[in-house]
Amino acid sequence: MDVIHSAAALRERLQRVPNNVFVPTMGHLHDGHIQLINIAKPRATCTVVSIFVNRLQFGPREDFDRYPRTLEADAGRLESAGVDVVFAPDEREIYPEPQTFVVEPSDLQYVLEGAHRPGHFRGVATVVLKLFNLVMPHSAIFGKKDYQQYLVLRDMVRQFALPIEIIPAETVRAPDGLALSSRNMYLSAQERAEAPRLHQVLSAVCAELKGGARDFQRMDQQAMTELLRHGWQPDYVAVRRQADLHPPTERDRELVVLGAARLGRTRLIDNVELTLPA
Ligand code: AMP
Repeated sequence: MDVIHSAAALRERLQRVPNNVFVPTMGHLHDGHIQLINIAKPRATCTVVSIFVNRLQFGPREDFDRYPRTLEADAGRLESAGVDVVFAPDEREIYPEPQTFVVEPSDLQYVLEGAHRPGHFRGVATVVLKLFNLVMPHSAIFGKKDYQQYLVLRDMVRQFALPIEIIPAETVRAPDGLALSSRNMYLSAQERAEAPRLHQVLSAVCAELKGGARDFQRMDQQAMTELLRHGWQPDYVAVRRQADLHPPTERDRELVVLGAARLGRTRLIDNVELTLPA
């Protein structure tokens, strides 16, 4: 496995690779990331993983400075997972000059996560386009844990006609249901015990939908109240259409329940997809 820090060395290494598959990450890797690699490997002659904490996608009061940076441990995990190339650039390598050209996503960037993290998806789309230009993969794998991010990037690739297939991966969870996340390490023991409630609350909304309930706003509110009652500060719980995250009509069948809430200093997100019978 090659660990590469510069864009020039990356291009050189990948020059003659006909068929690489790409997994972008911000590091502090867990089994969710490893699953993406396991999906990539059989499709690739060369599996490329990037580790880059992208300042552009963090708000001024977010956790950019304290985000965990654990390159050595990450490299060990990636080697065991059979990765061929790790691209771990520093900031100057990705942003040698101020990034004045940016990717402006569709209105999807302003709702849900975007409403609470202004500029987040612009930062994500910009760095992912740049990484795509460096790696030039034929496919890239993204987790549905970050559902809205997956949709923004899928739309970007389609609208810019990038010759890259975006492949979604299911959310990997701890046995108690908590979605794995690099940010889970911020949780105290007490918060970690409480954290699975986010998934439970979203699943309870799914169960109501399956039972025939269609008053989406009441269900969203009820779920947020439940989180508040247990000491969370919810940003949103929302039943949406899978295709575009618009509020559903009563005829929509392919739905996703998304939620984001703060537990102490840690902001967690999660979602559960469901398909209602016709
Ligand atoms: P991150 O390092 O948090 O930027 O995540 C890198 C990639 O891993 C993104 O495509 C995420 O959606 C994906 N990912 C993160 N956590 C999980 C998880 N628990 N299950 C599946 N994919 C995940």
